Amino acid sequence: MPISVAIVGSGPAGFYTAEALVKTLDGGVAVDIVERLPTPFGLIRAGVAPDHQTTKKVARSFEKTAHRPEIRYFGNVEVGRDLTLAELQETHDAVVLAVGAPFDRALGIPGEDKVGVIGSAAFVGWYNAHPDFADLDPRLNTEAVAVIGNGNVAIDIARVLVKTAAEMADSDIPEYAQRAIERAPVKDVYLFGRRGPIEAKFTNVELREMGVLDDCAPVVDAAQLPDAAGEMSDRDRRLKEKNLATLQEFATQDVGERRKRVHFRFFTSPVEILGGETVEGLRLEKTRLEGGRAVGTGETFEIACGLVIPAVGYRSVAVAGAPFDEANAVVPSDDGRVAPGLYAVGWIKRGPSGVIATNRPDGVAVAEYIRDDIGNGTKPGRAALERLLEERGAQVVGFADWKKIEEAEEAGAGAPAPRRKFFRIADMLKVVGTGATRRSAD
Ligand code: NAP
Repeated sequence: MPISVAIVGSGPAGFYTAEALVKTLDGGVAVDIVERLPTPFGLIRAGVAPDHQTTKKVARSFEKTAHRPEIRYFGNVEVGRDLTLAELQETHDAVVLAVGAPFDRALGIPGEDKVGVIGSAAFVGWYNAHPDFADLDPRLNTEAVAVIGNGNVAIDIARVLVKTAAEMADSDIPEYAQRAIERAPVKDVYLFGRRGPIEAKFTNVELREMGVLDDCAPVVDAAQLPDAAGEMSDRDRRLKEKNLATLQEFATQDVGERRKRVHFRFFTSPVEILGGETVEGLRLEKTRLEGGRAVGTGETFEIACGLVIPAVGYRSVAVAGAPFDEANAVVPSDDGRVAPGLYAVGWIKRGPSGVIATNRPDGVAVAEYIRDDIGNGTKPGRAALERLLEERGAQVVGFADWKKIEEAEEAGAGAPAPRRKFFRIADMLKVVGTGATRRSAD
């Protein structure tokens, strides 16, 4: 009997695992991908910035995997709502957790609960039409926004906030977000890094984009830039020196006629978010590096701003029924082996780092473990899952149903936008029609 595998989560980690299972077990596996949203692909759809359409093209290869006869997509099915992890473990020989890190890490400073503090997961979800965040209504009625962190998410957020409507025309940003950004009086976006320009985690392509925007200038203080990258491997030095050269070029740029500015401020760490009920400003402390770590100097300063977006990393949460390491916010595992028949891949296994393709080796490793650990399938798999979901009256969205949603999104877009995303689950289900109700077959 083929080995039945349920993968929880249809983001890159989930799909790379499905792809690896099909290759590794060559005809001897049936894979059911269970996804809580009707729409597949996780961060490809809801994390990658709406103006980075080329990055989203990896979804085409995931689509090929989804069409394989061994694979079945169960969209709009939530583990914890429609069925439990224990039930999935009863029906399938192996369960792979690929649920990612959908929440924000907290800064842990006073004032973080004020209106106008919005974590990057929520803000990125909002401008990407994620149904959980479509109603976020961020406080954009401000001239200044502070983004905390020097990673690619921070730079994505800054860029989306300062690009013109014309620059976003070929993106898939939802209309509500584009309008809100266009109407906002935002002029200054601050990117605060607690360490220096060499330690910043931006990749160079993303950093360089900030220098070629229509109506926004990068602002860099040359005094914060070292002459060279310092001691590190040759590979790291090449990457860091590229960023340094880009920042040096930014430091010489004239703001000119451009109305918006993105200020790169290094060696500054937020200590308090200021204001009453709502955000009015941010107090920061200057830092210096000691053994690679940022250490406060005791010198503080304040800036006025109406919105603070901590982009300091994402966070996973426990899946009921699976072990969880609270301190590191991951499912503890031996390279993906969690317990007999239970595996983890991607950010829930490793923490929130790396690019999309970084998830591929996780899937390959777990597919091999499943082959070696399970040998032959003994559990009913898909048929039992379908029965269970039918009993519960779950509205399962199959992959063919998703393709209908996608077609409607593409048909609804005005050129050159690639799609007009639905941001309400009810609207997605309307497109699928009653066929989705109590049905899981494609
Ligand atoms: P990240 O790369 O880990 O960056 C997090 C940033 O937050 C770092 O600069 C970190 O500084 C800072 N930080 C953490 N805690 C802080 C605190 N308490 N106070 C001040 N600053 C703090 O994470 P990310 O930007 O969320 O990105 C997640 C992953 O997705 C990354 O691997 C990223 O490359 C990837 N991604 C890639 C793209 C792309 O390729 N275009 C786009 C988006 C995301 P320290 O370094 O000092 O800890």
